[in-house]
Order: sequence, then structure tokens, then C-alpha cells
Amino acid sequence: MERLQKYIASCGITSRRKAEELIINGHVKVNGITINELGTKIDPGKDIVTVSGKRITEKNDFVYIKLNKPTGYVTTVKDQFGRKTVLDLIDIKERIYPIGRLDFNTSGLLLLTDDGELANKLMHPKYHIYKTYSATVKGQVGEGSLQKLRTGVHIEDYTTSPAKVKLIEFKNNKSVVLISIYEGRNRQVRKMMDAVGHPVLSLNRISFGEIDLSNLKTGEWAYLSNDEINFLK
Ligand code: URA
Repeated sequence: MERLQKYIASCGITSRRKAEELIINGHVKVNGITINELGTKIDPGKDIVTVSGKRITEKNDFVYIKLNKPTGYVTTVKDQFGRKTVLDLIDIKERIYPIGRLDFNTSGLLLLTDDGELANKLMHPKYHIYKTYSATVKGQVGEGSLQKLRTGVHIEDYTTSPAKVKLIEFKNNKSVVLISIYEGRNRQVRKMMDAVGHPVLSLNRISFGEIDLSNLKTGEWAYLSNDEINFLK
């Protein structure tokens, strides 16, 4: 438990003295209730604190990164076969690791962090964060296949949750499909497209919830903006 004014100061938005004024003047809510008392204690891990309507969280030194992963890299920290890993592309001192995985042959948006708690949370399908992929697949994807993908297809021992799917183009006997899923099972998009008879030729992740590739070129990375970090939290 921590005193409210100390907690507000540790979020980096103002000094402890100013935090006291904010409390006394009724700008601070804890779990939706205005708190005017300076001695109030809160649980930083559980209670939601807002200042003038905006949620605040403790300042920390974690790093949050987005990478435009090229194909030909594994999404692990080390590879037993000596293949290049995504960490070879990011030269920073913090020990970061990927949030979820992209296959060796998949390109696109990959998030990395040293914030283990957040990484674990984000990988859980119960948070329903949609990840969107642009998949180039064999053949002409018809309305029937799109519907099957939307409602769920049977793969091995499970049925996929509803996906958002859109056909973007059909050319030279290849289709480009945008597909958004919130689960992240092993090779899921590839298996879903196999299940409807349209094997994936190339796969690129273009967004993770509200976070997208912006203007990152293949192999480039950037720190997430505060807005992007707040979306994840
Ligand atoms: N689905 C796949 O099949 N591969 C990925 O890399 C990501 C999602």
C-alpha cells in the first residue's frame, strides 16, 4: 500500500506537493471515486488512479519496442541451429524478449519488451487483442471460404475463434487477404488458410491492436510512443 500523493509523484506527472494540491482540489479519483483526503492509501497493483480524468501509471524504466521483422529471422532469444534472431537487429543494452512469435518466414510487426508482466498479459487470448495479417495465398478465395474463416475453422484439436477477414485483391491466381485474429496459436493463420484450401505464399503482420508498422522499413525498429504503450496497458 502506498500514500496517494507519493504514488502520483512516482508516476512522474508532478511533485508530491503539487500532488497534494490536486487531491485537496478534487482532481484525483481512485476507482472512480473522488478522494480529498491526503492520508489515503492505495494499492498500486490494483487501484486505478485518475488525475483530471486521465489514468496515471507508475513511471518505470521498461523499454517497449516495435520491429518490422524481415523473413529469415527466428523470434527467439537464441537459436539452437545458429540462425539469425530478431535480437540481432536491435542493438540496445536492455535484455528484451519478443511478445509472442512470428514464424521464420513471416515478416512484419513484432513487439519486444523487458516488461515480463505486460508481455505475459498480452499473450493471453482473453484480452482479445486483434493482430492483423496481410496474407498472399494460392488461388481465388471465394465468399464461402471467407465465411468459414469468419465463423471458425477446425484445426487439429481446436476450432478457431471468429476472425475478421477481407479479400483485398485477386491477381495471377493469387489472393491477398487481410485477416485479424486475437489468438496466437502456432502457425495459426497458415493453418487456417490451409483449412480452406488456400495455402499461404507470404505472410506479413501489419498491426497489433492499435499499434501498426508506421513507416518502419523491413529490419527497422523504434521505441513505442506513450500512446502506444498506454494502449498495451
Ligand atoms: N500465424 C502464422 O501462421 N504465422 C505467424 O507468424 C503468425 C500468425
